[in-house]
Amino acid sequence: MPYLTAPEDLGELLDGEPGYRIDQLRHWLYRTPVLSGEDMTNLPGAVRQKLGRIWPFDVEMEQSADGGTTRKWLFRAPDGAAIEAVLMGYPRRATLCISSQAGCALGCTFCATGQFGFERHLEAGEIMAQVAYAQAFLRQIGMPGTPDHVTNVVFMGMGEPLANYDRVREAIRRMVEVMGLSARSITVSTVGMIPGIRRLAEEPWPVSLAISLHAADDELRSTLVPINRRYPLQELEAAAADFFEKKRRRLSIEWTMMENVNDTLDQAVKLAVIARRLRAHVNLIALNPTPLTRERASSRTAIEAFARELGQRGVNVTIRDTRGRDIDAACGQLRLLAGKRGLTV
Ligand code: SAH
Ligand code: SF4
Repeated sequence: MPYLTAPEDLGELLDGEPGYRIDQLRHWLYRTPVLSGEDMTNLPGAVRQKLGRIWPFDVEMEQSADGGTTRKWLFRAPDGAAIEAVLMGYPRRATLCISSQAGCALGCTFCATGQFGFERHLEAGEIMAQVAYAQAFLRQIGMPGTPDHVTNVVFMGMGEPLANYDRVREAIRRMVEVMGLSARSITVSTVGMIPGIRRLAEEPWPVSLAISLHAADDELRSTLVPINRRYPLQELEAAAADFFEKKRRRLSIEWTMMENVNDTLDQAVKLAVIARRLRAHVNLIALNPTPLTRERASSRTAIEAFARELGQRGVNVTIRDTRGRDIDAACGQLRLLAGKRGLTV
């Protein structure tokens, strides 16, 4: 499973083969990924045999929505760990949402992944392979009216990327330095792991940072996002401000809209203060209810009123579309579905 080996160490898998074969293999894995080893046309059969299977997971489920412009995969690692990725195609963009952990230990109340608990960290190669798979899919199969390659990667699938720092870092390094993605097109989304934000600010790559805030005071935030008790708002804001200073990358604040919980005027007023101080862009998204959430999604009217309030206070705000609703494309939900249908786990 060559994606589990660092791109610089591929020679270990092709013992005795000349250097140019290793370069050819690296090219197939990172520059022009293909869905099947058989498509690596300039590698002799014997070499392909040495490699064995290409992907470090099976495709257990593949679903398509929004007229073929949203595609969701549930990959399954040999040890049973579930890995979800969602590809969203637009006329000039193809955004891939990837997972950094199987499950998540942080237990945000409204999140399907959090409700499922923590399974394990994903390896750098398992994270990277999600991008390579989508790249191969776009090149070889494609999506209607969408670029033939991944233009943006967001760590908004399962797991907290900054709780799996070293492997996520290595995956980003491979995406930027080996695959050739622009660091600016990679967004790390975090619920607010302060040590990770501080480390990320020191890395050489200008990646984008999204902070999943959801509440603008500690009292409310600690009920929705338990890790807030350890990393409270004021310290989180200071770490985000430092990141902005060091990287000069625009921050975004993610806000999952829950009826009568965080869609109130009071929260809008408090959020506007934080967003303005950080010069951050706010993304609002309606809650995608999970079987275990108590909270309900805010109505369209409430979301628009909240957005207007922020706008009037000088904050840049976008209401995110809810791609893939009908295929449960929110964080962790496809796996819940697989569990319900009794598919092999
Ligand atoms: N752990 C990271 C990244 C994965 S979650 C984080 O929390 O940022 C990716 C995004 O999906 C987060 O902004 C999260 O708040 C949001 N999210 C989780 N569950 C959701 C749900 N049921 N409906 C809408 N958004 C959700
Ligand atoms: Fe983990 Fe993010 Fe879900 Fe919270 S929202 S439980 S941090 S994946």
